[in-house]
Amino acid sequence: PARPLQGKVALVTGASSGIGAATAEALAAAGAAVAIGARRRDRLDELAGRFRGDGATVLQLDLDVTDEQACADAVARTRSELGGLDVLVNNAGVMLLGTIVGADPEDWRRMMSTNVLGLMYMTHAAIDGMVEQGAGDIVNVSSVAGRLARKGAGVYNASKWAVNAFSESLRQEVTGRGVRIGLVEPGAVATELTDHITQPEAKAASKKMATMITPLQSEDIARAVVYMVSQPRHVAVNEMLVRPTDQE
Ligand code: NDP
Repeated sequence: PARPLQGKVALVTGASSGIGAATAEALAAAGAAVAIGARRRDRLDELAGRFRGDGATVLQLDLDVTDEQACADAVARTRSELGGLDVLVNNAGVMLLGTIVGADPEDWRRMMSTNVLGLMYMTHAAIDGMVEQGAGDIVNVSSVAGRLARKGAGVYNASKWAVNAFSESLRQEVTGRGVRIGLVEPGAVATELTDHITQPEAKAASKKMATMITPLQSEDIARAVVYMVSQPRHVAVNEMLVRPTDQE
């Protein structure tokens, strides 16, 4: 069907830019009502206006995923204002690359609290209702960095390995109850992600790497998410690793 998610409600975290914004747009184009959460309200307003112009139903959420109560409120508002929650995309994340020697532990706190604890808080808020309704999808945006550890990415690696372990354990817990847990693991995608790196050498290296390949676009990952959640209920696409063709 042209609109396989008609009648479904999706919530995307980190929807104000990059992969999250493109995923929210693709889910809306597939027919879902979408709740979009992030901290930059101006970005969400702009996106919501555009999606509504295309006929979508959109709910903007002030959401800092490091705040457990904000996560609970975001899920509750989605359920009450959009009538349910069928698909949760845990996409919010930061990639503060850098060496472990000489690192600022504040970078570590930001990565672990956003990429790991934030994803866990959102899952905690959403999972009981999904188990009760005997259906639902949680898609966790991990990374190639969740499968291969590299020098200069240690704590980002640790955060995404945590995402993968949490996802697989949860999958085993709830798959028999109709809830699908999927992992999407992108390679390099052209987004704002590298802008936030604080170690100057790491930032320069990562910007340079992006010029040496043809990176993915956010829409390439959005298609993977839509594919995952549009399958018939007996099909669970557990994991998708998607790299630029010229990324080693
Ligand atoms: P962007 O920087 O464009 O997007 C990150 C999003 O996360 C923004 O919408 C940002 O919104 C949001 N975010 C950050 N911190 C918080 C927070 N505390 N609470 C709520 N939202 C937050 O980068 P990408 O689109 O590339 O990143 C999205 C995901 O994809 C991340 O998990 C990243 O690790 C993963 N990924 C990206 C790859 C890439 O090459 N780009 C490769 C592999 C994985 P705001 O600041 O408004 O809150």
